[in-house]
Amino acid sequence: MGYNERNPIFSFRLGEYRHGKLLKLSKLNKMPANDYLRSIVDQYLAGDLIPKAKDDLAVEMTKLKLEKIKAEIEYLKLKNKYLETFGAPMSNSATRILKPQLITTNQQTTELKSPYDEINNRLQCVECGSLYHWQTRDEFVQQKYEFELHLTNKHNRALSYSEKTVIDDLTFHGASK
Ligand SMILES: [Zn+2]
Repeated sequence: MGYNERNPIFSFRLGEYRHGKLLKLSKLNKMPANDYLRSIVDQYLAGDLIPKAKDDLAVEMTKLKLEKIKAEIEYLKLKNKYLETFGAPMSNSATRILKPQLITTNQQTTELKSPYDEINNRLQCVECGSLYHWQTRDEFVQQKYEFELHLTNKHNRALSYSEKTVIDDLTFHGASK
């Protein structure tokens, strides 16, 4: 096999927009456009380029999946620990009781915790416990906004998917207790 077969030249056209963008980016990275393009392919093939997440929901789903995997690992550790300690595998009934509990507890403490306190009809930040009360409809609207602002200013994040769902669905039905 000759040099050319082992080291083929790839060629393709880029439209005006992508070409312009490529030139800008390669200039920023202080590389000739061709080298810059090749570095992107190299990074991709090395697994160093991560596809951009589609939207907040995709990010949220990934977090939840990660949380589930973590819970499952905890569960396996527990199962192994049991085997080590008692020299016998956990009984089927113990497994049945433990497994769902572990996963539910783990999820509730994180993403699935609702910021709405139904008993007191108020909002509470799931991270720091800050409270948001209202008396009138106007205050209610204002407090929902304040709550969102609080997450941005204090916790440096937007509403999570589950928080957004709660806030969007929450309608005024009287004053907080
Ligand atoms: Zn907070």
